[in-house]
Formats: sequence, C-alpha cells, structure tokens
Amino acid sequence: MVTLNVRTSERNQLVDITDQVGKAVRESGISNGTCLVYIPHTTAGVTINENADPTVKRDILMMLGKLVPVSREFRHAEGNSDAHIKATLVGSAVRVIIESGDLVLGTWQGIFFCEFDGPRSRRVHIQISSN
Ligand code: ZN
Repeated sequence: MVTLNVRTSERNQLVDITDQVGKAVRESGISNGTCLVYIPHTTAGVTINENADPTVKRDILMMLGKLVPVSREFRHAEGNSDAHIKATLVGSAVRVIIESGDLVLGTWQGIFFCEFDGPRSRRVHIQISSN
C-alpha cells in the first residue's frame, strides 16, 4: 500500500490527484491490474470526473452544497453533518484499470480527492494489484 498526503485549503475542495496516483502505479512496476484508491476519512471522499475544464469541479461542489445544505435539524454535535453526508454520496473508493503500466482513464477523466470539511491534512491509500 502507498499513502499520499493531501493538504486541503478550503472547506469544500476537489483536489486532482491523478498525477500522484499515476506515479504510484508506475513505481509499483505492475503492468496489468487494478488500482484501488481509498480514502480513510468520514468527511472526505474520492471521485472520477472531468479534469479538463475547472468549472466542472466548481459546479459539482456548488450543487453538492445545494443538495446537502447545513441544517439546524442535524443532531451530530460536531456540526459537520453536511460533510459526512457529502462523503457518503461521493463514496470512499474508486478502482481504476492498469494497462501497460499506467492508469486507464478517459481523455477527460481525472481522479479527485473530495474535501468536505477542510482545510485539513488528509491521507489517500492506494493499493495496486496485478492480474
Ligand atoms: Zn462529524
């Protein structure tokens, strides 16, 4: 397992980690297999989406904020239930195919660490398996 450290700077933020994940894959020496990207946090997640036009990540965060507003009805005393719910909606893991030693991603796809309760120092676990 490889662990990346991600330092976020906003409460809600999508951080493109495609290059770091690709580097971990290349350094593993595994040519064909799968790469699991797992987030060990309850108020952050991971997703694959467009990394070409930055307005896409802005729109994703804007609409997640509308879907899950901060509510007085939340009972969780920490005051960050919106972040917990967003993390559950986005999910804690993605799996990507590895072929010829590199990630198989679509032209416009990137892997994003999703921060919902930053700024914080976060971890991303990567497990690379061969076929
Ligand atoms: Zn909490």
